[in-house]
Amino acid sequence: MPIKLPSFRPRKDAYPADLWTKCPSCSEMLFNKQLDKSDRVCPTCGHHFRLSAEARIALLVDDRSFVEVDAGLQSVDALGFVDQKPYPDRLAAAQLATGMRDAAVRGTATIDGHRVSLCVMDFAFMGGSMGAVVGEKVTRAAEQALMERLPLIIVSASGGARMQEGTLALMQLAKTCAALERLRAAGVPYISIMSDPTTGGVFASYAVLGDINIAEPNALIGFAGARVAAGTIAQELPPGFQRSEFLFEHGFVDRVVARRSLRGEIADLLRYLVPGEQRPAADNGRSLFDPIGFLTSLADRVVPDLPAPEEAPARPTEPADDVPAARAADREATRG
Ligand SMILES: [Zn+2]
Repeated sequence: MPIKLPSFRPRKDAYPADLWTKCPSCSEMLFNKQLDKSDRVCPTCGHHFRLSAEARIALLVDDRSFVEVDAGLQSVDALGFVDQKPYPDRLAAAQLATGMRDAAVRGTATIDGHRVSLCVMDFAFMGGSMGAVVGEKVTRAAEQALMERLPLIIVSASGGARMQEGTLALMQLAKTCAALERLRAAGVPYISIMSDPTTGGVFASYAVLGDINIAEPNALIGFAGARVAAGTIAQELPPGFQRSEFLFEHGFVDRVVARRSLRGEIADLLRYLVPGEQRPAADNGRSLFDPIGFLTSLADRVVPDLPAPEEAPARPTEPADDVPAARAADREATRG
């Protein structure tokens, strides 16, 4: 007679990963569904977990008001980049895991009835790294904001520029900043929201250029990591270095806003920040403030009347408002 052994089911992990999440701040085990309901904020200690772009949009904008634009933009492997695996394989894996095409989603939506141009990053897609697609989406969001005179809102979550795209990723810093400068010159407001983490090239470009820079509590915000920073200045870093509250105390961030108050806070700001009237003089893409013209007129007023031209210095003088010529002369001067 065969002996019937008692069946031992394999013991399940005490906390299956798909059901529970351990809070890294207070070590409480949190039921995932409950965590999602509380917008991924720990109900015990208030730790803010990272949020997907989809959940972020749902949190911020009026119900069903979001209309996605440029959903089809996708990175190409222009450099044929291979690290541990080829870049196209990495992209495909990230797309499969997240259901997104790249690390940012953009479109228009209303927040408490105010129409805005919105771009939201997702850290789950290759660390929210900024390649050509993210840069292009941020730029187009700014351009649409400029064209339709809508306030621009960008939510950052990024480890920095995407190294697999090399120089093409670095170019996005200049491109996004230029688009934001045109927006600023036209008097269209831009609110930047920094979530955990906002670092590297994203921090070094559009994330901190907001008319108002908002950070979520305890988010890591900075350019290089703490170890590199400490090594560079050969000093111990102060407690709380590169966290939202530290940056707020030092004037780098305007507001630290808890996630549950974020939507209301932005709705309030949008009541104050109304896109200004179109200024006709700024149409050529240059800001109204012309530093060279300003300095020239200042010099005219401050410097006493110069002697007659024949006593002028031997160096040929350029017309002061000829910017390219002045720059070329500058370059010559620094080379010589
Ligand atoms: Zn907690």
